[in-house]
Amino acid sequence: MKTRNSKTNQRVARIYSVRALALVLALSLTAVTSVAASAVVAIDTATSYQVVVNKTRPLRPVTYHPSDLVRVPKYNPYSRIVRRDVSAAIVLLGNDMKVAGQGTLIVQSGYRSYGSQTTIHKAKVRALGKVHGEKLAARPGYSEHQTGLAVDFAARGVSTLQVSFAKTKAGIWLAANAYRYGFVLRYPSGKTSITGYSFEPWHFRYVGVQVATAMHDQAITTLEEFYSLPAAPNYLN
Ligand SMILES: [Zn+2]
Repeated sequence: MKTRNSKTNQRVARIYSVRALALVLALSLTAVTSVAASAVVAIDTATSYQVVVNKTRPLRPVTYHPSDLVRVPKYNPYSRIVRRDVSAAIVLLGNDMKVAGQGTLIVQSGYRSYGSQTTIHKAKVRALGKVHGEKLAARPGYSEHQTGLAVDFAARGVSTLQVSFAKTKAGIWLAANAYRYGFVLRYPSGKTSITGYSFEPWHFRYVGVQVATAMHDQAITTLEEFYSLPAAPNYLN
């Protein structure tokens, strides 16, 4: 009786463990599928930290306005605003940069609205003509700054928005370490034919620590290559 009971118990236990294994497998398959599905959606969704905006991929809608913009509480002499998580990441980055003795961070620019981008774009095109003007100013709806996820960094005492920033202590530290805080250097040197933009050692884009670290570890420097998207050297029309 005792033996039979224990055998029955063992059989029941085995059935349950097989069922548990099947359930775990089913759940993990669902998880894998939904991660893949969300990655596909994420690069197209304006609110996503992984949204890819370039000259062939405008924001949808083009007038997109993030709902969680905040003023960065430190390193922000110009009172720039960005999305909430980006602001928190900037503060962490600035604190660590200072502790590392690599200079005092400055948030040179952050979010730009569709309206202000329209003004900037119009002014540049009027002054320089369409071809040259559009090299310096993105069309409204096509600027990463409109996502609230892009930041132009500078450092105290360093000339701002210059290619020479790449050779400064701050520029070197940012290029090497920004990924730890979720940022990628969005327009790297030698990638203009893919990104559509000249080297901008000051322009960083928040994508979250996971994606930024994956790109760093795989030595992939553009979002277009990371997501296997077509190169975006020019506007489509
Ligand atoms: Zn920028």
